Amino acid sequence: IIGAGAMGSLFGGRLALAGEEVWLVDVWEEHVRAIREKGLTIVTPAQDIVCRPRATTRAEDIGSADLVIVFVKSTATKTAARTAASLLGPGAAVLTLQNGYGNADELAAVVGRERVIVGTTAQGATLLGPGRIMHGGSGDTHIGELGGGLTPRLAKIAATLTRAGFPTVGDEGVASLVWGKLIINVGINALTGITGLKNGELADYAETREVLALAVGEAVAVARAAGVKLPYPDPVDKVLAVAAATCQNRSSMLQDLASGRLTEIDAINGAVVREGARLGVATPVNRTLTLLIKALEQIRQAKKAPA
Ligand code: NAD
Repeated sequence: IIGAGAMGSLFGGRLALAGEEVWLVDVWEEHVRAIREKGLTIVTPAQDIVCRPRATTRAEDIGSADLVIVFVKSTATKTAARTAASLLGPGAAVLTLQNGYGNADELAAVVGRERVIVGTTAQGATLLGPGRIMHGGSGDTHIGELGGGLTPRLAKIAATLTRAGFPTVGDEGVASLVWGKLIINVGINALTGITGLKNGELADYAETREVLALAVGEAVAVARAAGVKLPYPDPVDKVLAVAAATCQNRSSMLQDLASGRLTEIDAINGAVVREGARLGVATPVNRTLTLLIKALEQIRQAKKAPA
């Protein structure tokens, strides 16, 4: 597992508990050391679970893997793709369950399209500190071959994830899944990042509801131009329903900005702008949201840096 933050640790930890041989690879030394010395603790409402996946900062410690799962933020996908390439045994696959659009293509450019499996997950996790994460929400995981088709390896990976506690289905309509999740992030993430609102509060103001609907409308037009059929009938209603269901959440983009980190904007609203330009669909609202988030990234990073 490349990128052992909240999600990578959750999946890696539970796969290890299910008896799989798991290595976590992360650049964060303190976290890797904590896992090596004390194990990885997964905090759940019922109990704290301690598991012992192997962990390293040096991918060359590992040898070859039959499955590489990429769970870095999208800003680090290109780097993770090179790490993945160094780990792949014959016939090995690379799975991305990251948010946003473009991660699978970035991986494919380095490891080859035939290796890449892409999906979405409704699992949620939060990093609590070195060696400690919290398992938040649970839900289904969908995976599909980037090149299409229902292959035996897809079924095998789905079964392995399901056994580890992540109910997973292999799916042929992977573009629909990825765009379906992307559009939810398009509606919620940048707007919460800019306004500082919690997800549910976006519905409290006519103005935020309007920007949300405009941004989502552009993304839907781009998806249609790409020939993608979305997995729900009314995208704006769907985004508002997800915002209501996660009303107390501070989105990952809001949290990244608050901590002076780069956000996944280029893979979310920025991806809508890029794909819109490629397909001849105007996306001025998504472009504006992308530029504002990029400005905020610089403003917050300057504040974080010592004077
Ligand atoms: P995170 O920031 O908690 O973890 C990312 C980890 O990657 C960090 O530990 C970081 O040190 C590590 N990393 C960065 N560069 C690296 C590199 N070059 N090599 C190895 N490790 C590197 O992020 P997260 O919340 O786990 O999210 C990961 C992905 O999953 C994102 O795309 C996110 O949008 C998506 N996602 C998150 C959730 C969630 O609930 N957290 C849910 C669904 C999808």
